[in-house]
Amino acid sequence: MPEALGQGEIDTLSADADRFIAELDEETYLHYAGLKESYDLAPIYERHERLTQLDTALALGASVDGDRRRRELWKFACEGYLGNFVSEEEERVAELEATLTATVDGEEISFRMLKPRLGNEEDRDVRARVEAARNELTEEHLNDLQLQAAQVVQRETQQLGAANYADLYRSFGFPLDDLAEQCRRLLADTEDLWEEAGDRFFRSRLGIGLGELKRWDLGRAWRGADWDAAFPAEAMLPALEVTLAELGIDLRGQQNVELDLEERPNKDPRAFCSPIEVPERVVLVMKPQGGPADWRTLFHEAGHTEHFAHTAPSLSPEERRLGDNAVTEGWAMLLEHLTIDPVWLERRLDFPRPYEFAAEGATELLWLVRRYAAKLLYELEFHTAEDLTALGPRYVELLSGATKVEPAAVDYLGDIDEGFYASQYLRAWALEAQLRAYLRERFGNAWFSRREAGSLLRELWAEGQKPTADELLREVTGETLELAAVADRIRESLAAV
Ligand SMILES: [Zn+2]
Repeated sequence: MPEALGQGEIDTLSADADRFIAELDEETYLHYAGLKESYDLAPIYERHERLTQLDTALALGASVDGDRRRRELWKFACEGYLGNFVSEEEERVAELEATLTATVDGEEISFRMLKPRLGNEEDRDVRARVEAARNELTEEHLNDLQLQAAQVVQRETQQLGAANYADLYRSFGFPLDDLAEQCRRLLADTEDLWEEAGDRFFRSRLGIGLGELKRWDLGRAWRGADWDAAFPAEAMLPALEVTLAELGIDLRGQQNVELDLEERPNKDPRAFCSPIEVPERVVLVMKPQGGPADWRTLFHEAGHTEHFAHTAPSLSPEERRLGDNAVTEGWAMLLEHLTIDPVWLERRLDFPRPYEFAAEGATELLWLVRRYAAKLLYELEFHTAEDLTALGPRYVELLSGATKVEPAAVDYLGDIDEGFYASQYLRAWALEAQLRAYLRERFGNAWFSRREAGSLLRELWAEGQKPTADELLREVTGETLELAAVADRIRESLAAV
């Protein structure tokens, strides 16, 4: 049994974790913003070696003693320890993804462009061949590495003193079993709703019913190209600025928020937020492309940005940087879902058929929530399985059951979120649905245009991630977090058409 650490040692580790995360966030920013070609994580890990050593993780584990900050630091050290073991496999997977290519109909396509290609390809038969090429590369080059990494994590989790990965996260306070129960209920309660709404959605976007739809058609449906004209690239940032201004936030005037708008050849086209210093330096990076999905991503990342930028500097590193990520994801979704809110869309006077678009957005949300519910149930089985290689058929069964579209069996290893992040998204969707219901009740359906609503948000953002999503919701509304609230929110949008 390792000995508990003294407060002085814990404070030193906490300060080190703060720098470790800042350096990782800055490196991520520089690389993905196209400011630095290489992505050098290894030297950062070396500088903070102590935080990824088994002894440190075990000693922190022995020091928790019911203290939340210490538990967060312990979780961080455990994740660092496991992450260090699989970094080689992960780097190799990333390298292969960046260099592999497939030839489809005589055209050479790089691995990372295969998925985007599915979204832009109009011919179904070509889409099927692109998908087949992607699966072939995954099976031939990636599955072995992914399996190795998963087996190492399984083995090393036991070094950390937990029977399996699920138990480890239970000991971090993740309510996995209660959530799994809510997932089963949501899947049963919304089954008919999905079959009906999903069928209508795919018919309207692609002319294909849910029964005939194949997985290679999905990207094209989500792309929503018919709505592109309503979501122009040049109007994205102005729409965000106006929305925040109505809440009392002057985006351009925020000293601690950097907007990275510059064009660079290697800049990731997807918007992202790098909270390098919380709250002193938060970067929102974007390269506006336009289209409904691009708008949603920008508003999502702006939600993270405002949350971190308003976090009180007096909080501890654990409360500013660690804690329950369902909180920051919930804030991100609150802003993201403005772009599928019919009242928000209606206020943009030029928007055609806002209720129809909002219903499509709600259908997409239903797909996501059902898919993630099934993913969580699958991941719980995966992380307690004896033989990982036998899980392909189970993956297909659970995911098909939820979405009614058969996934590719070769994704049974790659479609796993590290650290049960699927559970954070699920709880964040619930938090968003319940907070939004509260905001509408208190400030009206156009709550996002009310200063007072903005004041309340700023007050809550200041709490950083000190409270969990459950505590935050209880503080504001007195309710408990319920996945069923997401289904109610979706039903309302669907009924308004
Ligand atoms: Zn997010």
